[in-house]
Amino acid sequence: MSKRYTTNPTKHKARKRFGQNFLTDQKIIDQIIATIAPKRDDNLLEIGPGQGAMTLPLLDRVDELNVIEIDRDLIDILNSHKKPNLTIHQGDALNFDLDDFNPPIRVVGNLPYNISSPILFHLLEHRDKVIDMTFMLQKEVVERMSANHGSKIYGRLSVMMQAFFDVELIFVVPPESFDPAPKVDSAIVYLTPLKTCKVDNIKPFEELVKAAFAHRRKTLRNCLKSLITQEQTNIDLSQRAEMLDVDTFITLTKDYEKLHQN
Ligand code: SAM
Repeated sequence: MSKRYTTNPTKHKARKRFGQNFLTDQKIIDQIIATIAPKRDDNLLEIGPGQGAMTLPLLDRVDELNVIEIDRDLIDILNSHKKPNLTIHQGDALNFDLDDFNPPIRVVGNLPYNISSPILFHLLEHRDKVIDMTFMLQKEVVERMSANHGSKIYGRLSVMMQAFFDVELIFVVPPESFDPAPKVDSAIVYLTPLKTCKVDNIKPFEELVKAAFAHRRKTLRNCLKSLITQEQTNIDLSQRAEMLDVDTFITLTKDYEKLHQN
């Protein structure tokens, strides 16, 4: 039988502005820990530990755990567990430099939904310091991250994530697994940086992908007219962005970069 952890001896009122939905379903917590499969000497960083739903079982399995939490009230709750192998960093996860955590790092977290995309893009910039990432996100966000070209939900997030990571939806988590319950389903996603990433420079790639999806109903010729024209590439710009697979976006970026080299 799995061990039960008392995470909230003094009732903390969940704060919406920090995206606080605390995991309460022990079976789901066990499944997440099994997905992470921590080893004693793993260098783990948890974003948004909250009251410790994932933190406490992780602390039983690793020699050292760093966590970043923005809510000062929760820091007191986390400290009350008096765990010697826990290092708590108070602040905004978006402002932390991963170099401070002695990379390479395994990053985990039940992410605050209101800032999940900024956190993903922040970690994308630091992907060379990351071994893997296991996150709980809104199911809809995970579906967008892993969508294939040609699908309605394929967009900027899909291209940016898949160009740099292998993205895998592991399992879906229903609203009843949290307190307070969110309005939507959640999902666990597992991300590993691609061993051979074909993107040479992230900035022009980001710029082109952003512009391509800025107006989904328009053709690429229209969306990209200030960046590249049909005469400057062999890729058919009469299509909409959602029709281009990730590799074609990378090729298009190379054509775009060539224009600036000459
Ligand atoms: N891990 C806990 C759990 O599963 O019960 C809490 C998850 S809750 C969805 C998100 C957590 O992230 C909250 O504890 C919240 O205070 C924290 N948080 C929100 N914004 C943050 C930020 N910018 N940086 C670090 N932590 C943040």
